[in-house]
Amino acid sequence: MGVMQSVTVLGSTGSIGVNTLDVLARHPERYSVYALTANRSLDTLFAQLEQFSPRYAVLADIELVQAFAERVRKAGLPTEILGGEAGLCTVAREADVTMAAIVGAAGLLPTMAAVEAGRKVLLANKEALVMAGPLFMDAVQRCGAMLLPIDSEHNAIFQCLPMQVQQGNGQLSPFLHGGVKRVLLTGSGGPFRNTASAELADVTPDQACAHPNWSMGRKISVDSATMMNKGLELIEACWLFHTEPANIDIIVHPQSVIHSMVEYIDGSVLAQLGNPDMRTPIAHALAWPERVASGVGSLDIIAQARLDFEAPDEERFPCLRLAREAAVRGGTAPAVLNAANEVAVEAFLDGRLDFTSIAKVIEQVMAVVVIVEPHSLEDVQQADRESRVCAMKFILNKTLA
Ligand code: NAD
Ligand code: MG
Repeated sequence: MGVMQSVTVLGSTGSIGVNTLDVLARHPERYSVYALTANRSLDTLFAQLEQFSPRYAVLADIELVQAFAERVRKAGLPTEILGGEAGLCTVAREADVTMAAIVGAAGLLPTMAAVEAGRKVLLANKEALVMAGPLFMDAVQRCGAMLLPIDSEHNAIFQCLPMQVQQGNGQLSPFLHGGVKRVLLTGSGGPFRNTASAELADVTPDQACAHPNWSMGRKISVDSATMMNKGLELIEACWLFHTEPANIDIIVHPQSVIHSMVEYIDGSVLAQLGNPDMRTPIAHALAWPERVASGVGSLDIIAQARLDFEAPDEERFPCLRLAREAAVRGGTAPAVLNAANEVAVEAFLDGRLDFTSIAKVIEQVMAVVVIVEPHSLEDVQQADRESRVCAMKFILNKTLA
């Protein structure tokens, strides 16, 4: 085993961040925590600083830095406090490994900073890759970064790929170089898998966030309920594995025991199974190509007893269709889709938009905003801004068809 690696956890106070620290704490001889970052959960961050004594902590909101730095200094903690996007990018660049676990478009620049520094990047922040796919993957190649998927499905797919493709550092297409025929991307179907269309309009944020198998942040929980999460994951998989939507089948698998599958040209189908606990993909990506303990218990497959599969229902979950359309269209379409979704989900969580209108907002924004070929991150951010303004207008005016 090699030398100690320093790790930055972007979004350390969130669901993925906390799970990452749980795994890191099990292996102090392998990993040291370099930097932790948070948006609003300052008490959680403070407790993390007490436990891990990182070199830096970064607050996304620069206004909060001074008071927090004072609190940290008074407690005699050694951590230096930075702020803002510049601070996030600095700590993302400097560590050997960066866990990208900020939620949404806010994670784009810090994640790209780690990629451009040629680091090992553990990608949970799927929105960053969805928004900036071609630029993101170009940067991975150009800068020699190592990109490993944390999203459980993509991590499962990665594990089921041939070793030469895994070691091609995200540059070898499993379809061209590994005999892969298709990817079977599984999803639980979310909390409303069996809810009738007519009842979907009245579901509440708390119902949407009560996921049957996974405990996650609120934004991704709503995405799971609309199945936009599976749509974003389709786009994510196209970029990570150099393929088109036509080669990826979405399969509803309510038990979330199989995390995804890969079919080969000889008819073999490989699957990765395990308890639904994000510490497994986190530990896998951290240690790859080695293995370390994650704290996840053994899968009791006898108690599990059965595994069910069904086709997704795009009528009740139109976000799936919208995401597929954005994937096929390319250019800034996925960035537009993502931005409209973020605004609509926030409005739903705030009680300003009903559940079924989330897809309507996205559809309208995608019909209005002009799609271009992005040549720079600025082009992506421009599409993101424009789509947010457009989505907010639709929500305010309630001019939804
Ligand atoms: P979360 O809401 O629990 O945590 C988000 C983290 O990002 C927090 O630390 C928060 O402080 C930080 N953050 C939020 N807004 C920010 C901003 N504007 N600037 C800087 N930091 C900000 O979310 P999560 O469930 O941990 O998800 C994080 C990412 O991982 C998402 O992209 C999600 O899609 C992805 N992911 C999560 C899971 C899961 O099981 N939770 C699984 C797969 C992928
Ligand atoms: Mg997932």
